[in-house]
Amino acid sequence: MSAGLNLAQQEAVNYMHGPCLVLAGAGSGKTRVITHKIGRLIEAGLEAKRIAAITFTNKAAAEMRERAKSLIGRGARDVLICTFHALGVRMLRQDGAALGLKSAFSILDSDDVTSILKDAGGTTDAATARQWQWAISLWKNTGLNAAQAEAQAKDDNEKIAARIMARYEERLAAYQSVDFDDLIGLPLKLLQQHPEVREKWQAQLGHVLVDEYQDTNATQYEVLKLLVGERGRFTAVGDDDQSIYGWRGATLDNLKRLPLDFPQLKVVKLEQNYRSTGAILRAANNVIGPNPKLFPKTLFSELGEGEPVRVVDADNEEHEAERVVARIQSTRANGVGQEWKEFAVLYRANHQARIFEQALRKAQIPYKVSGGQSFFDRAEIKDLCAWFRLWINNDDDPAFLRAVTTPKRGIGHTTLQNLGTFASKYRQSLFEALFSSSLGSVLPAKAVGSLHEFGRYVNDLEFRARHTHGAQDSRAFMLEWLKDIDYEKHLYDGEDNEKVAASRWTNVLEFCDWMSQRAGGEIDDTAGVSIASEKKSLLEVAQTIALLSTISEREQDQNVVTLSTLHAAKGLEWPHVMLVGVTEGLLPFKLGDDANPSGRADGPMSEGILQRLQEERRLMYVGITRAQRSLSVSWTKKRKKGREMIAAQPSRFIAEMALEKTTTREDPREKLKALRAEFAQKALDTAAAAAAASAP
Ligand code: ATP
Ligand code: MG
Repeated sequence: MSAGLNLAQQEAVNYMHGPCLVLAGAGSGKTRVITHKIGRLIEAGLEAKRIAAITFTNKAAAEMRERAKSLIGRGARDVLICTFHALGVRMLRQDGAALGLKSAFSILDSDDVTSILKDAGGTTDAATARQWQWAISLWKNTGLNAAQAEAQAKDDNEKIAARIMARYEERLAAYQSVDFDDLIGLPLKLLQQHPEVREKWQAQLGHVLVDEYQDTNATQYEVLKLLVGERGRFTAVGDDDQSIYGWRGATLDNLKRLPLDFPQLKVVKLEQNYRSTGAILRAANNVIGPNPKLFPKTLFSELGEGEPVRVVDADNEEHEAERVVARIQSTRANGVGQEWKEFAVLYRANHQARIFEQALRKAQIPYKVSGGQSFFDRAEIKDLCAWFRLWINNDDDPAFLRAVTTPKRGIGHTTLQNLGTFASKYRQSLFEALFSSSLGSVLPAKAVGSLHEFGRYVNDLEFRARHTHGAQDSRAFMLEWLKDIDYEKHLYDGEDNEKVAASRWTNVLEFCDWMSQRAGGEIDDTAGVSIASEKKSLLEVAQTIALLSTISEREQDQNVVTLSTLHAAKGLEWPHVMLVGVTEGLLPFKLGDDANPSGRADGPMSEGILQRLQEERRLMYVGITRAQRSLSVSWTKKRKKGREMIAAQPSRFIAEMALEKTTTREDPREKLKALRAEFAQKALDTAAAAAAASAP
């Protein structure tokens, strides 16, 4: 496994019996160390199923699985390659009973959480609920429970949020449900409070590898520590300069604590960048320069100087998008065999994608928006998933409410409200309450009848899903069920635009295919949770889906231009990268009105603002270092602020790249015009020559 590794990488790969930290800049082959080390560990005799490799996103996990497969072959299949969250699901399904969680618990998505919080806080305002959601999530990520959060609350708002957190937690327990943060927090609790579970996992895992270690949060670190125990057989790889999730609770303390908690820690530094040309790497090093150094690092490239980094100043966003399109077209026209997938357009915030999408569409350039709305976020897919969740966990009240009203089946709001009051009075779930013999005391017989009918139908479906195996039967079952509930009609009724309804229905059919393929055991890459390639019951398949974030993310090798946020681009690389919206106020993202009134990078700043600026700078560094061969950075002279257009400045980070004077300002549209003129002239010449030849 040492082929294609430099000496430092080999050192990290061959060190297998203790804790190892690989700390290095972008593109230095950290992720490569992880994939190769999986192979090395197997070669050294560790069973594949005793290796866990933890990645930051499902997409990164899918990619690593691919790479491991091509490196190691089928042996890689049993390695647990997944995110921290997927590992958490696995732990809770196996051992959550110790915390009073049944193995069929439900995983709530962000929308479910918002609506539970609205209910718990007695508000109909989604924005308020989302603020609570945000606060609660941060508390959970730093390991605080509701009481602790209240004790440390800084103001009344925080106190209120902490009290709502207490009610929220009660509800989750009653619904046998967990939110995304619980997928880390509860496994931690399990490992801390249940020695037998801890020992089991420590014995089970022979080596744990963690990619993007700089973006782990405090709870993830505790989980890692307890999983590896005192022997500390793990490999963490990371780059403090690429820590970009501080706003979500990630902490560089995890890097600082590692040598203290594991005195025998072996630290390996990698210094050669294999990704980018000299010009690109120099711009990156210059940008990150002003940030304080946690660990001094150097990074060099042997790929040659390459093309200079280009700065493009555009009049406004539309103009910027046109120039991006022109650059893609002219690069393709110039080069040999350049494919669409070699290009990426990266920006700070999701909403910036739209204008570039429009321009690419107009130019008929195929693209995908990565990190955009995922398949599973679509309303129609969530509708169906609500039914599955209800089969699996009858106590899942949010799923109950969605299923019972989608499509509407004559069970109205008042009925559901009364059922809810009744259920909470007797501390039952809605589903349980529905079958209670005394329900008749609060609801008219007709309503009770409809509820009973629904309950029996759900039970019947669940029974049949449990006994439906394989692709064909599963597909038939799902289609029959959709017909039963008249779901297609429901889509058309709810949508004025027929085209939209039709595309929703297509999604539903695609989803049925996808589910049945899994039931047939044809596919075994279910994000993070490996499924053996044997037939499964439809119910088993339904159990795993709550965790899958996308189908589309797996369509990796499409030959299309990528549009992505900087955050979602972490760890990835493209030959040609265009960083757009590198405009003060967008990147760095607005630092607050009083950030530095002088508008200058060296103006006075508070500590909090300074830290945010440093995180934005790391984000810029991540962006620059995604590029392999060419990089352009663009900004606009005007930008939107609310509804207004205001004059804008280039991002301070452009100056910080310290590019040489010669590098900038040529307009690719001019070049394209010249190229087109040249083509046109050639065509004319050819036609003229042909005409001359055929002339009598
Ligand atoms: P990031 O910080 O962006 O996550 P990284 O440190 O994880 O980057 P990799 O993605 O592992 O870096 O590697 C960057 C590129 O360099 C990849 O294309 C990889 O295949 C290549 N590479 C890494 N190490 C070597 C090597 N020893 N020889 C040749 N190519 C290498
Ligand atoms: Mg990497």
